[in-house]
Amino acid sequence: MDNNLIPDEKATTNCGETPVINLQYIEGPALDYHYNGKNLRADIATIREHGHFNHVWYKKCCELRNITLDTPNMIQHYLTVGAAAGLDPEHNFDTRFYLTSNNDVRLSGHNPYVHYLKYGEQAGRKPYRHKFICKEMNYLVITTDGDVSPCCVDVRKQNTFGNIYQESYAELQHKFIQYRMDLFRNPQKYPGCVECLHNCQGSSGGMRLVDYCTVQPQRAQIADFFGKAKLMSTRFHIEPASICNATCSTCFIFNKDFRRSQELIDFEKVARSFGEKIREVSHMQLFFYGEPFMNPRTGEFLNYLADHAPDVKVIFSTNGVYLKAQHAQELVEAAKKISVTVWSSLHGSNQQNVRLYMGDTFQFEKALKNISYLSRLRDESCQLEIVWKYVLFSWNDSDADLREVEQRARTAGYDQIEFYLTKQPSPSRRFTLNSEAWKNFGHNKEVLSENVIRYNLNSGYPILPDNDQALIASNR
Ligand code: SF4
Ligand code: SF4
Repeated sequence: MDNNLIPDEKATTNCGETPVINLQYIEGPALDYHYNGKNLRADIATIREHGHFNHVWYKKCCELRNITLDTPNMIQHYLTVGAAAGLDPEHNFDTRFYLTSNNDVRLSGHNPYVHYLKYGEQAGRKPYRHKFICKEMNYLVITTDGDVSPCCVDVRKQNTFGNIYQESYAELQHKFIQYRMDLFRNPQKYPGCVECLHNCQGSSGGMRLVDYCTVQPQRAQIADFFGKAKLMSTRFHIEPASICNATCSTCFIFNKDFRRSQELIDFEKVARSFGEKIREVSHMQLFFYGEPFMNPRTGEFLNYLADHAPDVKVIFSTNGVYLKAQHAQELVEAAKKISVTVWSSLHGSNQQNVRLYMGDTFQFEKALKNISYLSRLRDESCQLEIVWKYVLFSWNDSDADLREVEQRARTAGYDQIEFYLTKQPSPSRRFTLNSEAWKNFGHNKEVLSENVIRYNLNSGYPILPDNDQALIASNR
């Protein structure tokens, strides 16, 4: 929906859990390696003294690879059986990589881990291929053509790994876990991710992509990354429509690389692929690129979720113009059963400044009227939250603009306003990352990330605490 906005979803932490890993995917071709066994006792002692052999990990690897662990001495098992099968003694040593990149070790019959500990480390040999994990792989992204990708950053869909029109939920989940494993083991297989990693490292503004990737992650981070694997498929980002009534100047929808073979998602096929598994869905973001309410069946799908996915939290991002009365009713009905949040992307406080980003024909008043109608339909029986998403540009960040957006938001019945810094097309000069103006902006705000603050309209405080307004607030 909005390429300036990155959801700030707090990932579930499974740190410390035994990693859930499908190692059968990483067996690879047979290794032409045999342990010579000449110094078995000494080799066991070397590994034991080093103290990093991971028994839990190793046992799990054996189970997943169907390798019989017929001795309580796992180090001995690794030396005599595991290394030749390509098993790893710990997260930070890749047996297969070390053997295939050090022919002398492989041919000598030395155990690769022992060799590394005794000689390789000092000689500067690498214990593993360059590795990284990505915290952004939080949602499966499904676009209107049914393609499935592992994250919402990959707007060019270079990392597409499946298609929901052709594959079941179970197959896609299986592939997603494989993707995560592959990304860790062999990132070169995914040029989109490698490019993304470069962007992470090269980004100086720190507005997006930073912190998504962790290069050479620590053991706990790796466990966390793989621990999440079993949860990931409960989170989805579905694109109901890949067309839009607005013409935001930096929207990727207008990029020549934006490719979809159909404009509206086929919700029936999506539901068929999910089947009974729809009950497991915990988070559904019903937007990506395009205006979700341009798909006439979006409300129907929402109701389907409300009836079949009791624990789901649904988020829409809409510019509001197509949010008609019927949609509003559907949203309110669904919100009586499940939690629904509507992000209203309106990047201006009036028709004059909104058009500078969202296009000359964008209907600001209509969008606001629709949101206002939705807000009035709500009552205490629904869990429906309405948030104004406001990207700060050079043309909509004056005191007058900010007071106007606050006043319009209060009148229309929003709950919150979130203000975003952006890098393009004409970033706010008044508010910049790490500036005093940005740090001090927003009375009684919540800081969501370095470039996002949230202002709660029910707090009773004005956005800009000038004397008169502060007085009004304190008298409430
Ligand atoms: S053109 Fe539409 S989809 Fe693109 S950013 Fe604007 S409102 Fe969102
Ligand atoms: S590295 Fe980048 S492109 Fe790859 S999954 Fe992560 S966020 Fe997406």
